Amino acid sequence: MSLHVRKIGGVPEETARVARAAFPKGSLAIRIRDELGELFSDADFVGLYPSRGKPAWSPARLALVSVMQFAEGLSDRQAADAVRGRLDWKYLLGLELADPGFDHSVLTEFRDRLIAGDAGIKLMDRVLEAAAKHSLLKAGGRARTDSTIVLSAARQINGLVRLGETLRAALNSVAAREPEWLTGWVPPEWFDRYAIRFEDTRLPKGKTKKMELIEQIGADGLKLLTALHAPGAPDSLRQLDRVQSLRQMWIQQYVVDDGLVRRRDLKDRPPGAERLVTPYDTDARGSVKRGIFWDGYKVHLTETCEPDSPNLITHVATTDATVQDVRLVAPIHAHLAERDLLPDRHLVDAGYATAREVVTARRDYKVNLVGPILASTSWQTKDDGGFSQADFTIDWENRQVTCPNGATSSRWAEDRSQEGTAVVRARFPTAACRPCKAREQCTRSNTKWDMGRRITLRPRAEYEAIQQARAQEDTHEWKEQYAHRAGVEGTISQGVRCFGLRRCRYHGLVKARLQHQLTATAMNFHRLNAWWTDIPRARTRASHLAALRPAA
Ligand code: SF4
Repeated sequence: MSLHVRKIGGVPEETARVARAAFPKGSLAIRIRDELGELFSDADFVGLYPSRGKPAWSPARLALVSVMQFAEGLSDRQAADAVRGRLDWKYLLGLELADPGFDHSVLTEFRDRLIAGDAGIKLMDRVLEAAAKHSLLKAGGRARTDSTIVLSAARQINGLVRLGETLRAALNSVAAREPEWLTGWVPPEWFDRYAIRFEDTRLPKGKTKKMELIEQIGADGLKLLTALHAPGAPDSLRQLDRVQSLRQMWIQQYVVDDGLVRRRDLKDRPPGAERLVTPYDTDARGSVKRGIFWDGYKVHLTETCEPDSPNLITHVATTDATVQDVRLVAPIHAHLAERDLLPDRHLVDAGYATAREVVTARRDYKVNLVGPILASTSWQTKDDGGFSQADFTIDWENRQVTCPNGATSSRWAEDRSQEGTAVVRARFPTAACRPCKAREQCTRSNTKWDMGRRITLRPRAEYEAIQQARAQEDTHEWKEQYAHRAGVEGTISQGVRCFGLRRCRYHGLVKARLQHQLTATAMNFHRLNAWWTDIPRARTRASHLAALRPAA
């Protein structure tokens, strides 16, 4: 397929006449076209197509179709049918009434091109640029961010089933590619053991029997991998995705001990960020949030929240399930800065707000990151009467700490934490702490030669940011300002309930990322449409009893 750049031009006269007659009050598709004009042009996608080959269907129109498909929750076939048969879609796309559209498979190919060229974000950018041009979006003001869990498109499998399915998937791939090579050596009992899904077989009940089967699967998997790496085995088999997954899973889960294949102890397995959870989606990772376990990803949505403009999603990020929210703050600000969409205040929950992020956002982007900063988890903070860090006085100029008992620290050293971040470590002399009457409230250190209290401080700017943030958190102004953050939960809920945000349509991180970029753009279409048609924003529902609560 090659791209022949064409100017799309206006809506054909006959299409406009019939669409307006059929939709006297307009529709989402018609309003997007009328209000924002031509959002995309073929020239935007030049880099995604080769210069030779059969002319491709207009990528500018395919981009619109892809967003509309997510706006209406359609499959590829349904979207291709809508292009052929829907008047308002023809109006949006600027097509003649008799235009036959395209085969649905063109949409898959177009998405692959968007992924290969990392161009999915361009679609969202174009819509935001058009909104800014029409004074519906501007930098400054408030923005808010939250994340939610996203389930992998692959079914969730655990433990024994995960191991059995990984081997079964590899065997199926090998059987499809080189059936004769496989039948030449495969043990007959494997047909019973691996022919059908593991979940559909009768699995052993007892712990010992289960462990025997796990080790049997381990030995069988190793046998297959050994055969695949033996001289004479077809090279192409070793490159199969499912064979690579088998190899990776076996390295992570098994160890050969004295000639026997044994399951690794939990502590010997790699951390969650690296651990495969299914052979059918090797980018998915397992995580847990508030007691909910899931395999897959996380999506983070950032939106504007000003009363005089529509709440538009300005940033969407997809990560694997193990990535902590706090790691997204800097990338979100960098992305918004590039597009001149930085807010003045960015409202986030405790997962995003750390002292370091508050300081960095203020220093690098002039953004006031507003969120509750988690209290220290030290026993002194939790124990009533314990001497927490807040009870000590820090003299940054003279590099000294004074305790509530009046003693001063004897050491002050700049160091690195376990995570590699800068910290200051201060220590009190044993001579002061050993005889101290308040010792029980202060330290549990009881080494014979070192009984002094130790304190680990963040660098000065972060320390002071925490103090300032904590002092503000109790004020009425802060609470009133922070209350606006809660609205983003409604956005997440809208994404989950109306746009299928909770589950991946496709396998793999890059496809999940594109899905979320298209979903966010589709949500912006709906929000713009609601703005133009004066549909009021949804309000947080309250029960009849809650509605009667007296004002505080
Ligand atoms: S134990 Fe040491 S640091 Fe703690 S209050 Fe007593 S003298 Fe101060």
